[in-house]
Amino acid sequence: MTQQTNPPQLNNIRIVLVNTSHPGNIGAAARAMKNMGLSRLYLVEPKSYPSMDAVYRAVGAVDVLDNAVVVKDLNEAVSGCVWVAGTSARLRTIEWPILEPRECVQTSLEKIEQGDIAIVFGRENSGLTNDEMEKCNALLHIPTNPDFSSLNLAAAVQVVCYEYRLALMNIKITKKKGSKHRYDALAQSNQMDGMYDHLHDALDYLGFFGANNSDVVMHRLKGLFNRADVTQREVSIVRGICSAIQDKKRPR
Ligand code: SAH
Repeated sequence: MTQQTNPPQLNNIRIVLVNTSHPGNIGAAARAMKNMGLSRLYLVEPKSYPSMDAVYRAVGAVDVLDNAVVVKDLNEAVSGCVWVAGTSARLRTIEWPILEPRECVQTSLEKIEQGDIAIVFGRENSGLTNDEMEKCNALLHIPTNPDFSSLNLAAAVQVVCYEYRLALMNIKITKKKGSKHRYDALAQSNQMDGMYDHLHDALDYLGFFGANNSDVVMHRLKGLFNRADVTQREVSIVRGICSAIQDKKRPR
């Protein structure tokens, strides 16, 4: 049976397009979203926008374009989100958990009552950078022909939005028993950033990085924290530890 209304949780899903080159793809993505009942489009530094090409391709979804939020970087687009997935046509050699669309939808819907979630789409020619992936809790890969794996950007948006609609129409969100975030609020993306900066400074103060490249160490630590459903209370504890380190006299 088809549902006549749009599940309200669709309003908590941000679709983020990073550095899109072709405005037609932005319009087509807006259309794909509206077809599935999503409306919150974020555009990180689009190459050519606003544009009539976007309007033409959006057809009846011009309202999604009109309400799109244009931001200067990915931090701003995912600020306040409790969970973020980065999408990729390639299975990268990074340690991030790789999810197929259905797994991604289930995992993220367990958290959606706590705040916004975001699905981030990369550039047409080069996808997402590793720095951008560091902002993501998981990598979402749509299984495709391995010899021709890259979907058109708006087609990828379509698949993901369809999966959210389908799941929310047949809602069976299985909250993990005893899951800690039934009680504690999950940390938001910007709070995680604040924690990473603090951790970096405290470890640097300790002389912990030594001859190691601090970016590499921080990348691994972000991978660890991104998998852990970190709560706001846990962020406070880590930051408290960092402050305690910084309050100590520097060792000779
Ligand atoms: N040459 C780029 C392809 C980019 S396609 C690369 O190798 O990464 C543009 C965007 O569409 C990607 O960044 C991703 O967001 C999305 N996309 C395309 N195919 C996808 C797939 N199979 N799974 C998940 N996302 C995909």
